[in-house]
Amino acid sequence: MNKIFAIFGDPVSHSRSPLMHNCVFKNLNYPASYIRVHLQDGSKLKETFFSLGLSGANITVPHKEEAFKACDEVRGFANNVGVVNTIINEDGKLIGYNTDADGFMYAIKEFGDIKKILILGAGGTAKALATRFIQDNIDVTVLNRSEARLSYFKELGCKSSTWDGYKTSKYDLVVNTTSAGLKDEELPAPKEIIENILNNTSFVADAIYGKLTPFLELAKEKNITYKDGADMLLGQGVLANELFVNHKLKTDDIKKFMAKSFEL
Ligand code: NDP
Repeated sequence: MNKIFAIFGDPVSHSRSPLMHNCVFKNLNYPASYIRVHLQDGSKLKETFFSLGLSGANITVPHKEEAFKACDEVRGFANNVGVVNTIINEDGKLIGYNTDADGFMYAIKEFGDIKKILILGAGGTAKALATRFIQDNIDVTVLNRSEARLSYFKELGCKSSTWDGYKTSKYDLVVNTTSAGLKDEELPAPKEIIENILNNTSFVADAIYGKLTPFLELAKEKNITYKDGADMLLGQGVLANELFVNHKLKTDDIKKFMAKSFEL
């Protein structure tokens, strides 16, 4: 019987995950399909998952923390962050994983040795990345619009600030993990702060993919080397697919056909 996988999010229409995973399943003759589910109420994740008869799913903005709560068991790095982006149906139990952080580490490899990072945003993606960076002894600062979510980062050992208290420093890399620019044309912070940040960094990355966000547009204008979220998406997708197929396909084959879907 064909297995069904899905991506849950709000918004979700922009997601390339269905194309990526279906490209792998189709080309490697794996009996499965991958659909898109627009979920507004995150508390309905579990019941929706089972009512659709899913074998596994990815979770995107803004439900990753809710997904962590919905799991019967959480494995690996997701336990360090309380954020889940991949769930697997294991004999009727929901098992949660996080593949975002390692996907991002894969994406920034080409920037070389990164020692100091500024993260814009303090949501689920920021948590996963900050926790992973700290594991690698990287100096991390988090800048967010509001104060409430910063306590996690303080406890983790990051420096943190809201827009009001932000003081300039030099960074190797600045990464936008806010959803500013995803479905609007906003910058992740007021323009004078962003200008200041961009004038003091070597590299820039955005978790958003498939469009040049206003943040990346500004980085481009300033001739700063940047990348959007496509490689991060590929990295997390390959790791999620390995879990979906229970490691029955070769990683190199998954990567090859998933990367091919970016050309479609
Ligand atoms: P969350 O909803 O958990 O967090 C969103 C964060 O963005 C919060 O810190 C919030 O601030 C901030 N924010 C939202 N709107 C604005 C705004 N207009 N201006 C400034 N800050 C804002 O989201 P996620 O962490 O799950 O996802 C964030 C982004 O990363 C999304 O765009 C998602 O698509 C992308 N992503 C891409 C991946 C990839 O593979 N390329 C993987 C994972 C995520 P506040 O606390 O003040 O509300």
